[in-house]
Amino acid sequence: MQLLEGKVIADTIKAELAVEVEAIRARGNKIPHLAAVLVGEDPASQVYVNSKIKSCEQAGFKSTLIRCEADVPEFELINIIQRLNSDPDVDGFIVQLPLPKHIDEEKVTLAIDYHKDVDGFHPVNFGRMAQGLPAFLPATPFGIIEMLRRYNIETTGKHCVVVGRSNIVGTPISILMSRKGYPGDCTVTLTHSRTRDLPAEVRRADIVIAAIGIPNFIQADWVKEGAVVIDVGINRIPDASKKSGSRLVGDVDFDAVAPKCSYITPVPGGVGLMTVTALLMNTLKACRREIYP
Ligand code: NDP
Repeated sequence: MQLLEGKVIADTIKAELAVEVEAIRARGNKIPHLAAVLVGEDPASQVYVNSKIKSCEQAGFKSTLIRCEADVPEFELINIIQRLNSDPDVDGFIVQLPLPKHIDEEKVTLAIDYHKDVDGFHPVNFGRMAQGLPAFLPATPFGIIEMLRRYNIETTGKHCVVVGRSNIVGTPISILMSRKGYPGDCTVTLTHSRTRDLPAEVRRADIVIAAIGIPNFIQADWVKEGAVVIDVGINRIPDASKKSGSRLVGDVDFDAVAPKCSYITPVPGGVGLMTVTALLMNTLKACRREIYP
């Protein structure tokens, strides 16, 4: 079994990005600028946003963090988005999800100019991705395919079973894994809470991608010997042995599943760090007008 070490790949990519940013600076051009909007005080969202800002620093990007109170009216958040849409210095920006209940996430996603949608959530980018056109790919699926590419994992003709069908992970990764070319060319099964016999579906997989949000859900006897397992889940569970009283685990029962795998991602240290790095890769593409010249 080999670990797919997101941290190692993410550090390598950030070092590569830093070299590119230095070259942009040396030519006297504008360096990539990512802005993040954080609404409220949700601890997990603060951790994610801080990690995005820190990664920008590591790669030499400019970053801006805009904080709003949890009770910010929806129209004010939309105004902030419109200002970012028209700010020529900002190449891309994200609004950290989830948002408070009084704000319509769909309205917010649609308000973001798709030219700056480096999270890849806007329907224009999603549709272009589905058609195989240049697009900002959603950050987590983009991070996963980049990880598969960097580890040279064979995907052509493999059976990939995706567990979870959210718009930000399960559905887009199922599209990317079935697209023509590498990494892709898989035969994909997309499963969810209404799937009739989930263990039987997962047992057929050469590649399992789990994005469910239930700690340690995927069991060892569901996984074929030699499978590649990508665990997207980030779940906090109580752990009295930790100073914080809790720890992070994925959607896969790692200790039991890992011995059966050819490759597996750890949690933490796997897909999460690749997601942040994918956001930077999208921001560089935005800065260079690579997707929308
Ligand atoms: P969602 O809650 O949006 O979607 C969960 C999916 O899992 C749904 O499609 C749901 O099915 C399915 N599901 C729920 N219960 C079952 C079950 N018993 N059997 C089969 N399928 C089930 O989650 P996200 O996709 O946003 O996130 C999934 C996990 O990934 C979370 O732990 C989240 O924290 C993590 N995450 C990690 C990221 C990273 O960077 N590593 C980024 C984004 C998310 P149905 O559609 O039928 O309800």
